[in-house]
Amino acid sequence: MPELKTAFIANMRALLGEEAGAFFRALEEAPSLALRPHQGMEAAAPFIEGAVPWAEGGFYLRPGARPGASVAHWAGAFYLQEASAMLPAAALQAKPGERVLDLCAAPGGKSSQLALAMGGEGVLIANEVDAARARVLAANLERLGVTNAVVLNETPARLAARWPGYFDAVLVDAPCSGEGMFRREAQSREAWTDAAPRGCAKRQAEILEAAAKLVRPGGRLLYSTCTFNDVENEGSVANFLQDHADFAPEEFALPGLGASRGGMLRIWPQRARGDGQFAALLRRAGSAGDGPEARAGAGLTAGEVFARGDGGGEAAGRPFARGDGEKRACDGAVDAAGRPFARGDGAEQAPAGAGLDAGEVFARGGGADGPGSRPSVHPAASIDMWLDALPKARPARRAGKTAPAPDAAALLRALGECAVAALPVSPQSARLHLEGRRLIAAPLDAPELDGLRVVSPGLALLRAETARVEPEHALAMALLPGMARRAAALTEEEALAFIAGEALPREGEAGWTLVTHAGLPLGWGKQAGGMLKNHVPKGLRARLHP
Ligand code: SAM
Repeated sequence: MPELKTAFIANMRALLGEEAGAFFRALEEAPSLALRPHQGMEAAAPFIEGAVPWAEGGFYLRPGARPGASVAHWAGAFYLQEASAMLPAAALQAKPGERVLDLCAAPGGKSSQLALAMGGEGVLIANEVDAARARVLAANLERLGVTNAVVLNETPARLAARWPGYFDAVLVDAPCSGEGMFRREAQSREAWTDAAPRGCAKRQAEILEAAAKLVRPGGRLLYSTCTFNDVENEGSVANFLQDHADFAPEEFALPGLGASRGGMLRIWPQRARGDGQFAALLRRAGSAGDGPEARAGAGLTAGEVFARGDGGGEAAGRPFARGDGEKRACDGAVDAAGRPFARGDGAEQAPAGAGLDAGEVFARGGGADGPGSRPSVHPAASIDMWLDALPKARPARRAGKTAPAPDAAALLRALGECAVAALPVSPQSARLHLEGRRLIAAPLDAPELDGLRVVSPGLALLRAETARVEPEHALAMALLPGMARRAAALTEEEALAFIAGEALPREGEAGWTLVTHAGLPLGWGKQAGGMLKNHVPKGLRARLHP
């Protein structure tokens, strides 16, 4: 590791006094690498040795463990994260049903932690200003099977102008001088200059200015950095509070770290098993009564409030009432005219992409068995049947006439309902939405996105190709084994080959098949003629060496 800069050493001596010696010794120790399981403990168990006290579901890595090269990591079983980086989301305490914004979100450590806390309910807007990093963020959330996130590539100022007072909770995990990474990254030590803290503080003030506007009255703002100096930490918070009389610090306490002071808590590597992190929790003045409970009590779903003015109509233009959809769509396949849609009769239908009503939106409330319930039909019986039944071939000509085109959009939506009903999330609502040729399940409470740089508008379910419909990789990653009728459970050797993009020799019922390893989804395969064809997107294929 490169030497620490003289000015940094002087700053820390001034800040820590007698404790500075222990601090500098701690900086030369091994970093506190950790992970957070997203799909149960089983896949993570071989790599971990003990719990991170302040973060529920966080575990330190065993010395020598290499979870990043494992099939389980590729399959979204866990997120690798330094232990102290789990502090900000733990302090923000996002809850199911909330509207949460992660303003500086890439690569997605804290967003994925927030998503876990929300349990698939509510809306998580994960924003990243850097376009390339925003794509990595979206890929990470997809890998982990997050179902209620929207990923944006926007500036904080544009979001503030667009959604003032919208969010229950906003996280600003600010770009900073990165002193907390000095024991992990040589590059952080080299890049640091005496001027860095002040330069970063200026940028932090700009981001906080935008963030303040986005918090609803009574909502929370969590500001965090992974640096030690007081200019970017206590200094940035003090300057913000001076200019924003409607915000006040909120005290909190976390196991292993104790209580905050002035709403601020910091992890020092000489005091806790973590690298370096600062968090400040601030609350905006105003009624807590504007939160998710009040919104639910008002009998409004935010999807209704923010509907795109099309009334959420279904294909025939009828309002799509809460709860009337799933049973019809998932019980058995029907075509747009309501006729039973027998397997294999698709050849005479128009390409599924034809006549797609791009941008059409409809809301999905509770199931047919009552709001908030799962549909009674087992989704495993429906998803694959619909995939098989949807039009596959070009329209057949009979006596010189083309067969009438079915309402492909209606078919897609109905199929989407089956897919959403199969998701392993609590029975909360999603809004099915055609984005071009992709069917998306957007969080019902997601605000209007028109005109914004959207990387992912929600969970991608299906894609209409010219003459067929294909399930999206993201859908596979959000499913669990048993949620698709056809599944192929692979050995580790087969899984490594599948992740690398290989087709596998395998007998089975023809059709779309959810491919899994050790209970984790790997993606879609298509079984045909003794082979399981590989449908893992090319950009995600990898040769792993566990
Ligand atoms: N929260 C992330 C996580 O847990 O994975 C880490 C975020 S990192 C500390 C800060 C992020 O802020 C970077 O991804 C960076 O691209 C972004 N950023 C840089 N300048 C910014 C600005 N002016 N406004 C908003 N975000 C910015």
